Amino acid sequence: MTESTLSLPSGDWPELTPGWVWLCGAGPGDPGLLTLHAVNALRQADVIVYDALVAPQILDWARADAEMIYAGKRGGKPSAKQVDISLRLVDLARAGKRVLRLKGGDPFVFGRGGEEAQTLIQHGVPVRIIPGISAGIGGLAYAGIPVTHRDVNQSVTFVTGHDQRGETPESLDWDALSRASGVLVIYMGMKHAPVIRSGLLGAGRSEDEPVAIVSQATTPNQKVLETTLGAMLDDIAATKMEPPAIICVGRNVLMRQVLDWQALERGETPRNLDPLGRGKPAEER
Ligand code: SAH
Repeated sequence: MTESTLSLPSGDWPELTPGWVWLCGAGPGDPGLLTLHAVNALRQADVIVYDALVAPQILDWARADAEMIYAGKRGGKPSAKQVDISLRLVDLARAGKRVLRLKGGDPFVFGRGGEEAQTLIQHGVPVRIIPGISAGIGGLAYAGIPVTHRDVNQSVTFVTGHDQRGETPESLDWDALSRASGVLVIYMGMKHAPVIRSGLLGAGRSEDEPVAIVSQATTPNQKVLETTLGAMLDDIAATKMEPPAIICVGRNVLMRQVLDWQALERGETPRNLDPLGRGKPAEER
């Protein structure tokens, strides 16, 4: 592991004191999306307990002698139980370590960060929370999809496709979710894509409703599928889209036709300068 020479801007950066746990978001993948507080934490930690979705390059910013503990939970493999992870953090803190708990995205968004922090505090371990860029916002932005857009939605609904036991989200009230907002952003939805699709269609959303699926967002392996509710299952199979992926349902997805900035970076021209058909330059409305 190479110790980086990355330095923080001058200022009073908090000190990671022995016996503390910092619960920190690592963003969706691209190391450039880390916060400066996360970098400050990486430079100090004695022990880093990290998840599967934390990009390996990010760990390169740790101290060369830091102990790395993998606490990943990826489908299929026997995984560390949540309670074991939380209690391990308690033990490490009590042993006087400077502990960094690094989680993908934001620790408080479908990441069980709240439970870990609660357990730590219940055991008297002091905690600092460092938010991160969540995949459902930053990942979509990398795909050129604004999670809100004035012409489309005044609210956005974040949904998890897994329930507590990792089972089918049939228990979700799809009618209510569907009515609540024009845009749904679904985490962990790939396994249950058929249930999500039929739930939304059953709630009256149209077969033509735009859907985007963004896998490994913000990483060099990012893949984006633009499809519709009607066609999504066939298209997922045809393009071999796999988790981790965000499913976004709503007309905001159409904005990618003009905002796919990564395509512009590759020298492509915008597919459609006015995908919502407003007819006027955006700033004149
Ligand atoms: N705390 C994380 C979410 C953890 S739940 C956050 O705020 O982003 C794990 C789910 O997040 C994955 O199943 C996937 O739906 C989504 N996810 C995380 N990183 C992602 C990425 N780089 N690209 C696409 N989806 C991602």
